[in-house]
Amino acid sequence: MLITHGQVFTLGDRNELIPDGAIAIEGDSIADLGTTDALEARYPRAERLDAGGKLVLPGSICGHTHFYGAFARGMAIPGQPAADFVQILERLWWKLDRALLEEDVRYSALICLVDAIRHGCTTLIDHHASPNAIDGSLDVIAQAVRETGLRTSLCYEVTDRNGMDGAKAGIAENVRFLKRCRAERDPQLAASFGLHAALTLSDETLEECVAAAEGLDTGFHIHVAEGIADQEESLRQYNRRVVDRLNTLGILGPKTIAVHCVHLDAYEKETLRETRTLVTHQPRSNMNNAVGLPDVAGMLKRGIPVALGNDGFSNCMFDEMKAAYLSHKLYSGDPRAMPGDAVMQMAYGNNANLCRQFFPRPVGEISPGAFADIVFLDYRPPTPLAPGNLPWHILFGVDGAHVTHTIAGGKVLMQDRQLTALDEAAIMAKAREQTIAVWKRVG
Ligand SMILES: [Zn+2]
Repeated sequence: MLITHGQVFTLGDRNELIPDGAIAIEGDSIADLGTTDALEARYPRAERLDAGGKLVLPGSICGHTHFYGAFARGMAIPGQPAADFVQILERLWWKLDRALLEEDVRYSALICLVDAIRHGCTTLIDHHASPNAIDGSLDVIAQAVRETGLRTSLCYEVTDRNGMDGAKAGIAENVRFLKRCRAERDPQLAASFGLHAALTLSDETLEECVAAAEGLDTGFHIHVAEGIADQEESLRQYNRRVVDRLNTLGILGPKTIAVHCVHLDAYEKETLRETRTLVTHQPRSNMNNAVGLPDVAGMLKRGIPVALGNDGFSNCMFDEMKAAYLSHKLYSGDPRAMPGDAVMQMAYGNNANLCRQFFPRPVGEISPGAFADIVFLDYRPPTPLAPGNLPWHILFGVDGAHVTHTIAGGKVLMQDRQLTALDEAAIMAKAREQTIAVWKRVG
């Protein structure tokens, strides 16, 4: 397939704009890139997809999400409103995840994947929990992923909060799915070893996880110091701070994703840098949970490649980018905080770096050899647009509704805002039906 007549922004190392650009796709990857004239001459017989002068960007990437949270939208949370982060976990998330059965896991994933296609997000790193439907839950999500055509890495969150059996079942689910992905080598499915957070995991369980992960060539995917309670609990029970404890137990490393990292001291940041641990930032979630914001600028300055996730918020990464850009300015009282190019680097470059361990080809850039994960945006810039000022066009002008076409692995998943392979109305109708039963079980 040949995409023609796009304003192609390559991003990546090349970071160029090709004004009347074309992209040749072979199989699931990008084969060639150039002007429309040059590529039409080189590939005269290729099927054409005319971008009609739209913006053409790599599909966006979400470094950390929770498909299982989809049914929380519009849900009445029983009891008094939560007054802190731990109460949010207890009163909302730990009630919702226990209410999920296998079919709910499938539909909550489908809802998020459809939302991702709509908003041009083609790669997502998910963190799953369904304590009453653990065994095989990652296969259920994987099936939904295959049906939608997107690219994901999946894991199951191990935790002690559902007893020893729950923890063991979570470990087994991670191991089983890691082995499955290794055997299948599906370029759209990858796995990590999920852990909830230090505050719900004993040393014994973490040691078991490290032992179980041995030989599987995997890192861990864990929430780190999201709320201050994570540090308080760690100091009270183990007399050490969270990052120190995780490091001592062998959880950190270049394949491990430390999510949030809001409440860290300088020593902990240095430990993350030394161990080359990956960090993701989720500003909408941080604001919603009122947990504060991490020192992203400080971590970036140390050379920690902080990536951007959505923590289960909408799968429009343009919205997450805006939240990152604005929240740090307000929080620090400094308009110089979190410049647009730093946001862009997190959302594309650093997310692409995070994905390198999961997928055999690059994502987050339009270049020969990269996966053909590409979106069109019907955005007509009112002021000059170039690679150098693209971040500010995205932050002040672009939104997810501009996405008209979403392509992943060379397949057109949305064309002119219509999903090509999925019956969106039927999925949403069934999801609403499932939700009624889930909300009843929540109480
Ligand atoms: Zn999370």
